[in-house]
Amino acid sequence: MKYKKVIVIILLVCIGTIYEIHSKEQKVYEKYVVVIDPGHGGWDQGASREQIYEEDLNFQVALYLKQFLESQDITVIMTRTSDVDLASTTSDNRKREDLKRRVEIMNTGDAFVSIHMNISESSVKGSQVFSSKKEESIKLADTIQKELKKLNNSKFISKIGDYYLLNESSTIGVIVECGFLSNVDERKQLQQPQYQEKLAYAICTGILEYKGKK
Ligand SMILES: [Zn+2]
Repeated sequence: MKYKKVIVIILLVCIGTIYEIHSKEQKVYEKYVVVIDPGHGGWDQGASREQIYEEDLNFQVALYLKQFLESQDITVIMTRTSDVDLASTTSDNRKREDLKRRVEIMNTGDAFVSIHMNISESSVKGSQVFSSKKEESIKLADTIQKELKKLNNSKFISKIGDYYLLNESSTIGVIVECGFLSNVDERKQLQQPQYQEKLAYAICTGILEYKGKK
């Protein structure tokens, strides 16, 4: 009887250890790294209308997105964490050096999302997602676009974009143009923290859908 008890205990300990190792392995596989790139910053304010600057709005949406993704156990890397650009002050092509540095950071993740605001000569409004030519980027852009459409009824569809960040990065990723600063109503919306939070939530949901988590 005594020996049987000892054997049962040993077996339980072994099963427990195996289970622990297994769940640890699963966690490692679940670790997903998303690079969030709040577009522009520093000397580069991006698009602007009526003293409203794209760099600031991009950053605010990016911070909400960071919170949402981290709450889902996704690791987030930000290309900038304050109002700066990524080039050295002595660079003779600051914009290019800034973008180059962003791509280097993007390539350290599993996926990237670059946050931007758009402008147009017309009164057009709504979010639009641009992807690189990679099939997985196109899929990611589609799921994010679908969620943004639910939020602001955007007439746009996701599209392959000819942008440096998309062309030069080796990882999958998208540029999200959240809305148009040139549209008076949308400009007001884009400044509201509640709306910025909703944009971030839609982007996060799109990423989770792409990952098959939702
Ligand atoms: Zn921009």
